[in-house]
Amino acid sequence: MSDSRQHIMPVYNPPAEAFERGEGVRLFTQDGREYLDFVAGIAVSALGHAHPAMVEALQTQAAKIWHTSNMFRVPAAEELAAKMCRDTFADRVFFTNSGTEAVECAIKTARKFHWAKGDEERFEIITFSGAFHGRSLGAINAGGNPNYLKGFGPPLPGFCQVAFGDMAALENAMSDKTAAVFIEPVQGEGGVRAVPEEDLTAIRKLCDEHGALLIYDEVQCGMGRTGKLFAHEWAEDAQPDIMCVAKGVGGGFPFGACLTTEETGIVMQPGSHGSTYGGNPLAMAVGNVVWDIISDETFLAEVRRVAGTVSQGLKSLADTHPGKVVGVTGKGLLTGLQLKALPKPVQNNCRDKGLLVGVAGNNVLRLAPPLIIQDSDVREAVGIIDAALGEWTPET
Ligand SMILES: *Cc1c(COP(=O)(O)O)cnc(C)c1O
Repeated sequence: MSDSRQHIMPVYNPPAEAFERGEGVRLFTQDGREYLDFVAGIAVSALGHAHPAMVEALQTQAAKIWHTSNMFRVPAAEELAAKMCRDTFADRVFFTNSGTEAVECAIKTARKFHWAKGDEERFEIITFSGAFHGRSLGAINAGGNPNYLKGFGPPLPGFCQVAFGDMAALENAMSDKTAAVFIEPVQGEGGVRAVPEEDLTAIRKLCDEHGALLIYDEVQCGMGRTGKLFAHEWAEDAQPDIMCVAKGVGGGFPFGACLTTEETGIVMQPGSHGSTYGGNPLAMAVGNVVWDIISDETFLAEVRRVAGTVSQGLKSLADTHPGKVVGVTGKGLLTGLQLKALPKPVQNNCRDKGLLVGVAGNNVLRLAPPLIIQDSDVREAVGIIDAALGEWTPET
């Protein structure tokens, strides 16, 4: 039998199921099997699947104009950028097609900021162990994960990494070469680890003292996922100079953005950067709808409430399975159950029982459900994870 997957570059290893349709927090296969989606395409489908307002926006736009490139104005992009700047620290926005490209724009902007001030030697970007910033050459060098760097040539100069959570090491690493500190307020891939709020505040202060910029990667933890519009808003006096977003901002339509303050972003002028598709009318039609829904304080309050139900459920699992669960990690609706061994078998068993969950580093079973989940969905998910954990023997 020929394998219909044989021409797909096998950098992923998906299970056999293929989904045909989604509705809210549910996905359906062609033969009608139903799954509760608690991974949401890795924190992407923030409003679930086939949200009527998103479908309507995309269909309406699809009948009008798909693409003109940035040679021409895209009114919906101007509208979305204005909303982003109204609701965040930012004054300027560059739209991209992915998180990685938002990261590229952030790194380039930070370096150019110092270069434009005549400080050409200030190009070093400090990141943290366990970081994930995407898969471009720049992003894997920022992320510093040796598995992702191996085989792809010499590491790029200008990146330096310190241990997650080690504030003393960060302070030591900062110098007159430091262009920026680049951090995920909640690490996703690295094990769903939230940076303590007081550390974010301290990092902001350190950056100011050393004349370095602060860049947040909120690609995964942003856009309402932690119950605030952006995760760093939980911390006081911790606004960045630059922020990368993607994933949830498109709710499933691929786009991202790099947001900057006026002072920082001013260095990016005609010719500095570009993207053929970035801020494309289709993406912007969807992005405006997603922003309007998620930036609403009532919506965010409900995310915080249901996140409490998730947190309670996961804590109860930790109590029920003390020999198998190490603890609960993360923030809001980006949470992890840290297990005693590799979580893959539990993930697979959950899927067999109709629940989709993710995994992350540090033996973490990762939950990043659509932000529209209800308490009953949480109860169902926790029940399935409970059963899967009951059937699991951690391999040591
Ligand atoms: C997913 C992710 C990226 C990369 O986004 P892509 O859209 O896959 O390029 C960057 N940073 C973080 C924190 C992510 O979770």
